[in-house]
Amino acid sequence: YTGKTGSELISEQVKKLKVRDQHSVPVVVNDQVSVYDAITTMFLEDVGTLFVVNQKALLVGVLSRKDLLRASMGNQELSDVPVHIIMTRIPKIKICYKDDLLVDAATKLIENQIDALPVVVDREDGQEVVGRLTKTNITKAFVDLVREE
Ligand code: ADP
Repeated sequence: YTGKTGSELISEQVKKLKVRDQHSVPVVVNDQVSVYDAITTMFLEDVGTLFVVNQKALLVGVLSRKDLLRASMGNQELSDVPVHIIMTRIPKIKICYKDDLLVDAATKLIENQIDALPVVVDREDGQEVVGRLTKTNITKAFVDLVREE
């Protein structure tokens, strides 16, 4: 018997969970595509968050469902508005890395009241998007933890 309390044991298990084992595939759009095309991509790819990249494939923005809804409420022609006009941009973007603890990424989601984080790799002139970590990934990890028992 280890003498550890229940919460110490839970905490130990949770801290073994890394972003690398839980994240999903990222769905990205180029910063020049229209709001209309972004909406189409969001539907077809069945995701709630799109990541926006520039010509060098580096992260420049995030688009949520509400960002696209808000843009749709204006009188603008959605095919004429590029997503870089309406996206949340650097330096406001919250990110995570594959080696991060899942609980630290989850804390970022909660503290910033957002649904997803891009998983990135640092490059010389920016960050490349290699994954998508969502509230669903956290929920699944939570359920898996109990099923493992
Ligand atoms: P929704 O707006 O559909 O409820 P979110 O809660 O994820 O989805 O997004 C809320 C706002 O935060 C949006 O304006 C979105 O662009 C922004 N946002 C989403 N994810 C991030 C992120 N990783 N970093 C910074 N801002 C984000």
